[in-house]
Amino acid sequence: MSNSSQNAPVALSSTAQSGAADYPGLDDWRQRPIAQQPTWSDPEVFKKSIAELSVLPPLVFAGEVDILRDRLAQAADGKAFLLQGGDCAETFGDATADKISARVRTILQMSVVLTYGAALPVIKMGRMAGQFAKPRSSNDETRDGVTLPAFRGDIVNGYEFTPESRAHDAARMLKAYNTSASTLNLIRAFTQGGFADLRLVHQWNKGFTSNPAHARYESLAKDIDRAITFMQSCGADFEALKRVEFFASHEALLLDYERALTRIDSRTGFPYDTSAHFLWIGERTRDLDSAHVDFLSRVRNPIGVKLGPTTTGDDALRLIEKLDPNREPGRLTFITRMGAKNIREKLPSLVKAVTDSGAKVLWVTDPMHGNTVTSPNGYKTRNFDDVMDEVRGFFEVHQSLGTFPGGLHVEMTGDDVAECLGGADPIDQEAFLTKYESVCDPRLNHMQSLEMGFLVAGALAQRQQ
Ligand code: PEP
Ligand code: MN
Repeated sequence: MSNSSQNAPVALSSTAQSGAADYPGLDDWRQRPIAQQPTWSDPEVFKKSIAELSVLPPLVFAGEVDILRDRLAQAADGKAFLLQGGDCAETFGDATADKISARVRTILQMSVVLTYGAALPVIKMGRMAGQFAKPRSSNDETRDGVTLPAFRGDIVNGYEFTPESRAHDAARMLKAYNTSASTLNLIRAFTQGGFADLRLVHQWNKGFTSNPAHARYESLAKDIDRAITFMQSCGADFEALKRVEFFASHEALLLDYERALTRIDSRTGFPYDTSAHFLWIGERTRDLDSAHVDFLSRVRNPIGVKLGPTTTGDDALRLIEKLDPNREPGRLTFITRMGAKNIREKLPSLVKAVTDSGAKVLWVTDPMHGNTVTSPNGYKTRNFDDVMDEVRGFFEVHQSLGTFPGGLHVEMTGDDVAECLGGADPIDQEAFLTKYESVCDPRLNHMQSLEMGFLVAGALAQRQQ
């Protein structure tokens, strides 16, 4: 779904992409240790599902993936900023027009805040249209003395706590493909069909409850309006503003699914994982010799790796060697998720090791996953102050080392939920009782997302002074 970030249309590669053909090394991951995979209940259903997925059309095109790599190279170079956001776990049931549009609108709003504040192009990317597989710390879940398999995301099993729903059903992979396709279709319509037009900057705010971040956004939107009206009176052509680039991403966890959607691009002759533009390897599956690292080392997509507080400089260098041996600009993104308490202590040695080696990666902060706590009334949550503090720490570390803090990775929604504590119009734990909707990790709601946008815009702007 691409045109340039400056909004000039770019022709998509229309080259044919063959089915999940053989390619040297593409199946080597099968010989390696692999974590976090399902145990499918019916091997015949699995075989049939994989056979079907292998011949279905690609969800994204190789040409778009190549454009994204170029954009990320810009960000690694300090000339753009990546905004990646969406659910912890998408669900089939929530793939509705209202929810998808609210999320896209919120990402567009955050991106306007960032662009305006930081005067940098923002690469917009959803944890959307495929974020269906979840790693879990425990295989099982026990409720009132009953133990069942843990929920591993809608692509594997259902959230409902019954033996039928929690069985691992391979037919769900087809439903995940179809839900990704319809989500992506709507995103493409929104971002190419006029909904993302910067001249609608006010309308994106409509329908959200009034709060301090909302009001601040309104005032910024007025400034943008004034600037646009002025430019229009001067005869500027705003046709290009109707379309924006928007990329899809998810954690590449379920390797059978990712492999089945991998196609050899006839234009370049390389394998592309066509389930999304960008794929990342999670904190639990990033071992150097793991199946996940091996598989993703062999596809052309830009790749991310989550790095938690136990990561050493050596780990980072070995990952670079394996995933980006040719040091290709835009190929590799490190998404650090250290926790507010650790970031200032742990991040510097990683950044130094990478910089000293001469390699260049895109550094992105995920201020969510190192800051998960349980609220006194028993909900998985995050304190907005901790999340903000990790973002601040990320900027401080890069500032002191002279490297570029190139992106933000957040779990957020466009809805008015209550899952993270705090914010300018504070959410308290009582609100969880009625407005906690996530089936996995807690997300920033619309207001908290905007507030985060303002904080990051401020930090970026300050950096440039
Ligand atoms: C996630 O992004 O939802 C996730 C599980 O992250 P991590 O791998 O960093 O724990
Ligand atoms: Mn999560």
